[in-house]
Amino acid sequence: MIGLLIRGGRLVDPAASLDSILDLRLCDGIVVAIGERLEPAAGDEIIDAREAFVSPGFVDMHVHLREPGFPEKETIATGTSAAVRGGFTTVACMPNTKPALDDPAVIGDLMREVKRRARCRVYPIGAITLGRRGAQPCDFAALAAAGVVAFSDDGDTVEDPRVLRDAALLARNLRAPFIEHCEPEEAIALRDLQIAKETAKSWHLAHVSTAATLEILRSARRRGVGATCEATPHHLTFTSALIAQAGAAAKVNPPLRDEHDVQALRRAVYDGTIDVLASDHAPHTAQEKEGDLERAAPGFSGLEVAVGAYAAALPDLSPSRFVELISTNPARILGVRGGTLAIGEPADVTIFADRAWTVDPAEFASKGRCTPFAGARLPRKVLTTIVGGIVQFRAADCAA
Ligand SMILES: [Zn+2]
Repeated sequence: MIGLLIRGGRLVDPAASLDSILDLRLCDGIVVAIGERLEPAAGDEIIDAREAFVSPGFVDMHVHLREPGFPEKETIATGTSAAVRGGFTTVACMPNTKPALDDPAVIGDLMREVKRRARCRVYPIGAITLGRRGAQPCDFAALAAAGVVAFSDDGDTVEDPRVLRDAALLARNLRAPFIEHCEPEEAIALRDLQIAKETAKSWHLAHVSTAATLEILRSARRRGVGATCEATPHHLTFTSALIAQAGAAAKVNPPLRDEHDVQALRRAVYDGTIDVLASDHAPHTAQEKEGDLERAAPGFSGLEVAVGAYAAALPDLSPSRFVELISTNPARILGVRGGTLAIGEPADVTIFADRAWTVDPAEFASKGRCTPFAGARLPRKVLTTIVGGIVQFRAADCAA
């Protein structure tokens, strides 16, 4: 296999305490050397990464790839193409598909499709309850054995606390965390963190969006609950005022909040309360995002704007903390490889730069073209995405 030598970039890998100008050599799908002015081996392709950041590949732990069941919204091929355009080398896909990802056979079919079509690594998130109906816990051990890295009924909350507590007890010895979609947000976050404490199950709160939820989480952590949480690009940027302007196109769950919440969310990223940045990439057809607000589908296409949107919302975030939030931490929480460029680790690399660009959804690889960032000028751009040593995306306008 041909090697790749990435030269002159600012290598940012918080897991290895690295942040300096270093070369990186990849071969046979793994990282083989890191150092100053590495010499290429015969046949190496050389990538010039001067003026750019080189980091472990980005990991998005909250993505809807819509397969099986909704190929009109997205497929493995289009969703993972969007992922690599956005700098993501790994995504975890949510189970609100048809059928739901609640059975090892369904996971097996999905992973065969991933093997055929995916351009990045895909890890499935299994359902918590059969059919995501909120009544009967899935066979968690069987799902974990089939490759599931987390459990969630995302799109819906597990409403019955007894069902959730029983499920947490059944899954407590598995590494894969429960990921809860909290609606109504504060009440469910409060309830869940109590169940997490009682059952000692690993827990993650999806798309936290209010100042009050952050306070609930901080208080639970002070009492020893080890739960993690994520924030999305849209909740870090927009308020409910967007609904008056854009109507159904601005619909998302949880909904866009007030300026007070947006500011609290940004502070929570800076102060360490938030562990992960996740896009909640939720593609729909154009028709589903038009017309009546009540009937419109919730969610935005997020993978291709996320990196730029985070940089716009969080201008004071250090590159190292950014990489922690978008690579190190999600890889650790899911227990998947990647999240670092240590020698011997997978050759999953994202090269990005602080270079402005304008969002044009017509250029998306995703079938979902609805994003509140359409037309926005964003300050950070992905230049090259390398998955397992293979260049899966290269921006048209750059040397790297
Ligand atoms: Zn959700």
